[in-house]
Amino acid sequence: MIVTTAKKLEEIIVHIDGKKVFLIGCDICAKLCRTGGDEQIAQYAEIMRELGFTVVGERQIEGVCNELLVRKFMRDNQTVLSSADTFLIASCGNGVQVFKDFVPEKTVLPLLNTLFLGSMKTHRQFQERCYMCGDCVVGITEGICPKTQCAKFINNGPCGGSINGRCEVDPDRECAWYRIYERMRERGREHLLDGIFLPTNHSQDLIPRKMECDGKVPDATGKKTK
Ligand code: SF4
Ligand code: SF4
Repeated sequence: MIVTTAKKLEEIIVHIDGKKVFLIGCDICAKLCRTGGDEQIAQYAEIMRELGFTVVGERQIEGVCNELLVRKFMRDNQTVLSSADTFLIASCGNGVQVFKDFVPEKTVLPLLNTLFLGSMKTHRQFQERCYMCGDCVVGITEGICPKTQCAKFINNGPCGGSINGRCEVDPDRECAWYRIYERMRERGREHLLDGIFLPTNHSQDLIPRKMECDGKVPDATGKKTK
């Protein structure tokens, strides 16, 4: 999921055009983060009214990043949407950009800051474990990503500063490469660390990234199945 956090309202308010605002929440990631679910949208609506704005609409979209759903939403809500001066979007930055494409003549503002791709530990705790490098190695490193869990993002560790299994950059946490080695050793796979890992193939993370998905999986030779 994409982890988001609320922006300071004073950063947003100065950019609002007109008096009529429409609030949009994202019913997937932002809802799970409790930054853009219906509960938060209701709170934003109350604050906006207190500040003297007219809230012409409050809606949830099941993934504001989904152009197909946003297009349908636009079609189904044309009248009320056209009455808004400004749209306030509680989704990741992806969703804000998708939404803006549909109403280029209107002001569209993010209510949230987008932080990272995270896993959910509890309803309140999120953790970055993957930065989407496009060249995944966790199948070898026993499910521990050296690129996000190692403070130096190194592909071949440990770096030499690790002491008693702790990270030299942040002694409060375990050295990622120590953890990787220990897990591999427990499963008798530490010999896989004898060679060196090649550098990450950064041709896969040139931004902005695009992909077309045909739904087919490659066979052992890399060719796509029929
Ligand atoms: S190796 Fe790359 S794709 Fe795999 S978990 Fe780490 S950052 Fe994500
Ligand atoms: S001590 Fe371990 S986790 Fe910390 S920077 Fe060095 S290799 Fe990475």
